[in-house]
Order: sequence, then structure tokens, then C-alpha cells
Amino acid sequence: MSAPSAADTPHSPWRWAALVLALAGADLSRLLSSLIDQVCQDFAADQAVAYVMADGQAPPALASRGVSLSQQELLAARRCCSSAADDRTHPDNHPALDASAGVAGAAMCTRMVGDAQTLGCLWLARPAGPPFSAAEQELLDLIGQLAALAVRNARVHALEQRALAELHEAEQAKSEFLSNVSHELRTPLTAIRASAGLLLDERSDPVSATQRRLLASIVRNTGRLTHLVGDLLDMARLQDGQLPLTCTLIDLRTLARTCVAALQPLLDQKGQTVEIQMPPDLAHIIADRRRIEQVLTNLLSNAHKYAPHAGRIVIEGANEGANESGNEGGNVRITVRDNGPGVPPGERAAIFRRFYRGASAQDGPVVGAGLGLAVARSLVELHGGSIACRDAPGGGSAFDVILPVRGPGEAEP
Ligand code: ADP
Repeated sequence: MSAPSAADTPHSPWRWAALVLALAGADLSRLLSSLIDQVCQDFAADQAVAYVMADGQAPPALASRGVSLSQQELLAARRCCSSAADDRTHPDNHPALDASAGVAGAAMCTRMVGDAQTLGCLWLARPAGPPFSAAEQELLDLIGQLAALAVRNARVHALEQRALAELHEAEQAKSEFLSNVSHELRTPLTAIRASAGLLLDERSDPVSATQRRLLASIVRNTGRLTHLVGDLLDMARLQDGQLPLTCTLIDLRTLARTCVAALQPLLDQKGQTVEIQMPPDLAHIIADRRRIEQVLTNLLSNAHKYAPHAGRIVIEGANEGANESGNEGGNVRITVRDNGPGVPPGERAAIFRRFYRGASAQDGPVVGAGLGLAVARSLVELHGGSIACRDAPGGGSAFDVILPVRGPGEAEP
């Protein structure tokens, strides 16, 4: 058996440094409790109190062994945190005080001091044992200094945890609010849009040219608002993890054609062309059809918004990570690219954040709320995929969506 190293002997300062360091990540009550357990063991003490004073919003903390509640108060708060604690001749440090707390025999204490401020104290006694030596007092003083560092650390950690919890609560309240407001807005918006649409209908009472123009504007704008409210609702659900997916086998070529057809009137207004370049062997994927259609529509609608008149948009598809058995277990990449202004490299991460609108949106009269890409990214990630923006060859932007063929959360064989 090898002889114990200096660091292993109970009274080694290095051992104590290692012990307190190991407790650096613990919360305050565990820290104090472990500290006095170890102190009792190393100093053969039967009684111990570790006390940390209240600080700002943080309440006091105390751990003890072998002492009653009334003793704790006397020993911890009064004696150990007295400013005279370092002065061992001061009456507050007189053994009579320990005696008045009902402690007989050997006792010693030290303060935990950090940044010249007393944080708390460490007291211990062995009523039936021999008196503590000067070397033991010296070691206890060192333990007090080390403990002060750990106490500070624990307090900062607790503050961080509290701030995080508050942030989480605020986020939840925000998404609940968004969700409630969106729900409340959706019904009247649908009614307004339907009524304006009915009035525009050829078969209803005739309307003047001005009325027709105003009604068309109502239909158009309520459509935009309905879309925005839908995005807000989706965002709130995605944040709460409450957007269930209904996955089926999807043919992406058909889906791309459906998306283009839905946007065709808008594309025609700007004289833009869309080309679908997807190989016949493009893998079918397992995914939520409605949600992938929403992703593609968002990208296509952006391409339409930001590309110029007579612009060219391309939707590409490719199998990625194919293996011998076709593309099973691999990915599919769908790229939507246009010949618009593109996205500057410095903005490529930010455009996927909620409510972020980039330079291209500020340049012209392009409407939007900065939610489309945030929703698209969350939906793609919910499927286990990823989305990124890059330069399109020859200028413009290209958005790559990578989706697993096997669908969300399916394990590799
Ligand atoms: P919105 O289009 O409503 O502003 P999005 O979340 O869809 O919100 O897009 C965020 C930002 O990304 C836009 O404001 C725009 O600056 C940039 N962007 C998105 N798509 C394109 C594109 N095809 N070309 C250039 N910029 C784009």
C-alpha cells in the first residue's frame, strides 16, 4: 500500500482546497452541510455550525451538527459574525460565550470573509476532547477563506438560476399572451374577410368601382393579418412545444407544385417565373405535409417578395447522404433560390430570429413582420432538420432546407 500523500492527510490545506473546490458548484445549503460534515470528521468535533448571513434578497443559511436550535442562534449569529471575531482576546470571543450557549470544553471559530466583507462563520467544538491547537485554528481560518469563495459562488449561481427562472416565466407569459390575442383576433378577422369577399361577389348587390377597390383592399389586408396571426399562433405553440406533427409519406415534387400553384397569382403580378428542378428519384420523406408546405410557402413567398420584377426563382431537390439501399436513412435537401438582392453574410444568422427584418426588407415597400423564417426554422428543426441561407450562384439568396428521410425522431437501424 502506498503511503498517503501530503494532500491526503486530514489536516492538509491542499486537501481542503480540493474539497472546497469540488463543492464550488453546489447550492448553499449543500455546501454548508458538506462543509461541517467534513470539518467534524477532520477535527474530531462533535458540534459544528456553519452560518451565512442574509445578503440583499438572499436569506441567511445555516447548517449544524450536534447543537440545539437556541445554541445555533447564539453561536452563529452573535459570536461568529461579530466584527470582533478575529480578535481572539475580545469578550465576544471569550469561551464564556460558548459556555453561555451550553457548550463546554474546546471550541473555536472563524469567519468567512470575501472582499473584506464578512459573509458568515464556521464554529466547531469537541466538548469532551482536548483543546484545539494553534495549527488547528490556523487551518480553520484557511477553510473559512476557502468557504467564503464557495459561498460567493453559490450565491451568484443561485441568483443566475433565479434570473433564468424569471426569464422562463416571462417567456411563458408572453407566448400565452400571444396565443390568446391571436385566438381572439382570428375569429373577427375571418368574419370581416368573408363579408368583404361576399360583397365583392358578382352575384351580390352591385358595387361602385370605388367600393370595389376598397373592398378588395379590405380582403387583401385582412388576408395579410390572418397570415400574421397564424404565424404568431404557430410561434407561441412552437415555443411551448405544443405543436403536434402528423407525419405521412410525402412526395416533395408534388408538394412543390402545390406551393407554386397557390402563389401563382402573386408571381404573375410581378412577372416572375418558378422552375422546379427535382430528380425523379428524389426520396419521399416522412413528415407533416401541412407544416412542410408552410415552410416551402414561406421561402417561396420571400423569394417572390424580395426578387425583382421578371425575377427567376428555382426550387431544387436532391438526395443527400444516400447509402446502398437508395436514400433510406439519409436526408433530402430542398433549396429555394432567387435572383434578388441576397442576404448579407452578417445577417444570415439573425434573419431566423423572431421579428428580425433585414436590410432587404428595409430598402423597399416589402411587407412582413419578420416571423416567416423564424417559424420555418422551428418547423424544420421540429422535424429533425436544419435550414440555412447562403449566396445563390450568380447572385441572390439560396435557402437550403435539410430534412431527414425517415422523419422526426426516427432512430437509425
Ligand atoms: P419578413 O419577410 O416578414 O421580413 P422573414 O422572417 O420571412 O420576415 O425574413 C426575415 C428577413 O430575411 C427579411 O426581413 C429579409 O431581410 C431577409 N430575407 C428573407 N428572405 C429573403 C430573400 N429571399 N432575399 C433577400 N432577403 C431575404
